[in-house]
Amino acid sequence: MRKTKNWEYSPAPESTDHIKLKKQYDLFINGEFVPGVEGRYFDTINPSNEEKIAEVAEAGKADIDKAVSSARKAYNKTWSKMLPKERGKYVFRIARLLQERSREFSVIESMDGGKPIRESRDVDVPLSSAHFFYYAGWADKLEYAFPGRVAKPLGVAGQIIPWNFPLLMAAWKLAPALATGNTVVLKPAETTPLTAMKLAEVIQEADLPPGVVNIVNGGGTTGQALVNHRDIDKIAFTGSTEVGKYIMKAVAGSGKKYTLELGGKAANIIFEDAAIDQAIEGIVNAIFFNQGHVCCAGSRLYVQEGIADEVILKLQGRMDTLIVGDPLDKNTDIGAINSKMQLDKIKMYVDLGKDEGGTIYQSSCSLPKKGYWFAPTIFKDVSQSNRIVQEEIFGPVLAIQTFRTVDEVITKANNSPYGLSGGVWTDKGSKIFKVTQDIRAGVIWANTFNKFDPGSPFGGYKESGVGSEGGIEGLMGYVELV
Ligand code: NAD
Repeated sequence: MRKTKNWEYSPAPESTDHIKLKKQYDLFINGEFVPGVEGRYFDTINPSNEEKIAEVAEAGKADIDKAVSSARKAYNKTWSKMLPKERGKYVFRIARLLQERSREFSVIESMDGGKPIRESRDVDVPLSSAHFFYYAGWADKLEYAFPGRVAKPLGVAGQIIPWNFPLLMAAWKLAPALATGNTVVLKPAETTPLTAMKLAEVIQEADLPPGVVNIVNGGGTTGQALVNHRDIDKIAFTGSTEVGKYIMKAVAGSGKKYTLELGGKAANIIFEDAAIDQAIEGIVNAIFFNQGHVCCAGSRLYVQEGIADEVILKLQGRMDTLIVGDPLDKNTDIGAINSKMQLDKIKMYVDLGKDEGGTIYQSSCSLPKKGYWFAPTIFKDVSQSNRIVQEEIFGPVLAIQTFRTVDEVITKANNSPYGLSGGVWTDKGSKIFKVTQDIRAGVIWANTFNKFDPGSPFGGYKESGVGSEGGIEGLMGYVELV
């Protein structure tokens, strides 16, 4: 029987009075905001109410030329010549300014991207400044990161990021590049440009030499122009496996270095000896956190047979209590889907799951009328070969299967083109060691999920990527060791 919750929290929306947003944002090139050469602008909207927030300049080929040449000039004349400890001070300053303006950044991130304020406030923004702090510390200590070697910067890095963690992905890209002496042209995703434009203001305020960081907006065509620019030394990309493959082909033979952080389809494994209530919270966190817009989301659940009924029943009960709604409300668990395009993709996969014979259960929550929303959804009675088990949906949709033995679940978990992350829930350390060693994934959490730290590397096997970000490993993508 479906039980719906019989209580409600009073609304607790975060105020927007304190934020400063312009109606129009230009490109950030050579330390200044400048209009695009072709004068084109596109709208960025709030996915929770479909209202326009601002318009943003779209960069064409000529703008990319300007941005790359300003980055090259800054690299040759200033940034690569600067004492590492001086560079570190600039990166440190960005971290401090971001921290000081964290409330404003959190609200804008939630407005532009649709994620709950609890997440942008407690995860995205603090982790972003933590990344800048962490890599600021490495700037003058590279000889300790790479003992016996000299770490030289690569030159100009083109960096392309997705919409699911807009500010955090910008921080993952910029912090190690700057700390190691590279200059940058960054392209945010077209649906979430605003926190990157606010970051440009922070970069101005931090007095970074002009041209060290350039930020250009636009979609795939703008990204392509950056990837194919002849004077780029390195491409750092986070996004879909499809575009990652395009980039690999485009840079082949060009001498450009590249790192790719791509898609995922993580296995989250619950053994019979796990603390079940804790695991339920872990499942919710793994797949419904950030509307499932998480590359490392635990979107394949494997439950050991003896506890499957209990876990699924408890999970369904918990799903019915999740609050879906206004991203700016502090009680909200699940915000808006980032765009109409992404919502259509999720719906397509849910229809496919039904066609493939899966049994669907959706949360009984009510969804707002305007905006892009999707209720937390699970599928039972699916099998390994189903497309909803194999392909990345990137929404709050979980495919559940059962297993009997450790070896069986390892085989199932590895039966995926991806290898980004995973989770294991058990009381036994021996099982944790076995599973984490045998599953081919970049990160596997034990009795927790979706935990990040700037000091830990993050990267994927197989079609989930090339190279790592975070930690000492994150420095390696931006240096040549001699
Ligand atoms: P996407 O690949 O469509 O777009 C990512 C970025 O690439 C955007 O800025 C986009 O404008 C740009 N782009 C699109 N086509 C391009 C082209 N031909 N050349 C150059 N740039 C191009 O991905 P998305 O839908 O924005 O993001 C979701 C994907 O990102 C998911 O697959 C998710 O798993 C992945 N992701 C991975 C990580 C990770 O660390 N591995 C982190 C976050 C997101």
